Amino acid sequence: MAKISINLATGSLQQEEIIVGIDLGTTNSLVAFINPDKNPQVINDSGKGLLVPSVVYFNSHNEAIVGNEAKEFLTTDPANTIFSVKRLLGRSYKDVAEHSDIFSYKIIDDDSDALVKIHAGDRFYTPIELSAEILKELKARAEHALKTPVNRAVITVPAYFNDSQRQATRDAGKLAGLDVMRIVNEPTAASLAYGIGLDPTQQKTIAVYDLGGGTFDVSILQIQNGIFEVLATNGNTYLGGDDFDRAILNYWIEQNKLDKAELANNNVLMQTLRLQAEAAKKALSSQNLYNEQVGEIWCTLDKQTFEKLIAAKVDETITACKNALQDSGLAVTAIDEVILVGGSTRTPYVKKQVEAFFGKKPQDNINPDEVVALGAAIQADVLAGNRSDILLLDVTPLSLGIETMGGLMDVIIARNSKVPTKAGRQYTTSIDGQVNMKIAVYQGERDLVKENRKLAEFDLKGIPAMPAGLPKVDINFLLNADGILTVQAIELRSGVKQEIEVKPSYGLTDDTVEKMLIDSITHAQSDVAQRMLIEARSEGEQLLYTAERFVEKHAEHLTQAEIRDTQLYISALKNALTLNDKDLILKKADELNEFTRPFAERVMDAAISTAMKGKKI
Ligand code: AMP
Repeated sequence: MAKISINLATGSLQQEEIIVGIDLGTTNSLVAFINPDKNPQVINDSGKGLLVPSVVYFNSHNEAIVGNEAKEFLTTDPANTIFSVKRLLGRSYKDVAEHSDIFSYKIIDDDSDALVKIHAGDRFYTPIELSAEILKELKARAEHALKTPVNRAVITVPAYFNDSQRQATRDAGKLAGLDVMRIVNEPTAASLAYGIGLDPTQQKTIAVYDLGGGTFDVSILQIQNGIFEVLATNGNTYLGGDDFDRAILNYWIEQNKLDKAELANNNVLMQTLRLQAEAAKKALSSQNLYNEQVGEIWCTLDKQTFEKLIAAKVDETITACKNALQDSGLAVTAIDEVILVGGSTRTPYVKKQVEAFFGKKPQDNINPDEVVALGAAIQADVLAGNRSDILLLDVTPLSLGIETMGGLMDVIIARNSKVPTKAGRQYTTSIDGQVNMKIAVYQGERDLVKENRKLAEFDLKGIPAMPAGLPKVDINFLLNADGILTVQAIELRSGVKQEIEVKPSYGLTDDTVEKMLIDSITHAQSDVAQRMLIEARSEGEQLLYTAERFVEKHAEHLTQAEIRDTQLYISALKNALTLNDKDLILKKADELNEFTRPFAERVMDAAISTAMKGKKI
């Protein structure tokens, strides 16, 4: 094996190999690299196309198929064809419940704050595993096209992604066998692609307007000394080019006086018309009239009518720009550049409205589908130290976090974060009346704390006795410029507080860091499997506890038959919990949940739902 060394300044494995930039998108994903001419370029493996649809299909052998091939199953086998997984990454069912109708596959509704799971075939998948399938495909295409192993990547995320969504993206990368050097904001990557922010003496304020197929966001960034600061973001994660297609489709339905109910039952025709609508929209980006026929149906549309159809949606994006500007405290004249990202910014009417609002012509020379991936490749090149003109900031070489239920590592400061940095998260208790909480601090990339380095442990004492799940304990990590980590725990209701200081780099050699990083990638698959089993068990046990208490407390509202059947589901879950089969536990938990849901709705018990909030230590 080639000698790998670790660069403590960048926290990355140093190998003479290519580092790729990945745009992991809601609809499409793509991978780019810096070509021998030192220019960023999107990889097109054997003419398969630049864009890889972010769709994963599971066949009857539970094998994953990704991309264009998977997309074909959207109509024929929707229950096993997972799209838009990015919307679920790092989210709980509660986060996505409002929009759950857009998903044609089964998302487990356990009414909890736990991260969502997806049921396909006879297995349960986390969004991390599904995203990893997409990343594996991108990695494989890059390796095939470039004829070299690809082990390192920069992956982009929306600027509004929270901690948990960023961590989930990192985990997906690791699971795909990638050393994720950095998670970069999409608008930051887009600016880099335009060369903005590469000159450390440059100071600029920019707006990045990103309108994709199903999502819209706008970010206001300030760039100073090569550092990108997000001043404000705004947008709508359920607005995009798909809405334009729908508007056209509805227009044609009206024009041709089609029967909506009849059409709803004709999937094939519906799909054909939807594709026609998208084709019309794209055509109208470069011509004034679209005229086609599908059987007896006239698919005619002129540019003027199209613009009327989409005006309200485009207005909505402009209002979001207004709000973002307001939040940033800036006047529109303070914006030096406007950058367009996302396929839907090709629509001339969109460009026109953006230009009118910002009072300047937006940058649109780079393909709006590719600009984020190209920028990610440039960021990767910077991190690899290939651009000597750019200063590299100190980063933490390993992640820092605490132990949570079942011996799992919960990362609070991710590896490769710039120093100084601070981050925190809220936790709660797992036992009724718990008055002490053990806080164990670890360093490393493995999912189980026992595989990581323990840095410190202390007890937060004097938590007032409350039911499990009610105390709110904030744990904050502060890593200063000298590499000293302060861990503070505070129970918010009582104000009890405790803090310690440690130096994570103490006794840490380059060799150890290198070994820990390599181990984390080689064990990623089994680590995730173990994490999922532990999480499934914790959730199963929690549900069991809740369900048993529910039956006890509300017996008078239930019929004898309901009690008897609930007990049967409870026993089945109990049995599953004794086995090491995460899919079985989740299946039995899901069945118990589905069975008892109507009763729970009948007897709303606020105490139960609040008792289930927050991660448990
Ligand atoms: P993205 O999510 O960034 O890949 O954007 C995909 C969206 O861009 C889809 O709604 C496409 O229909 C749309 N799109 C692609 N090409 C064009 C075009 N030439 N004109 C207008 N919209 C387009």
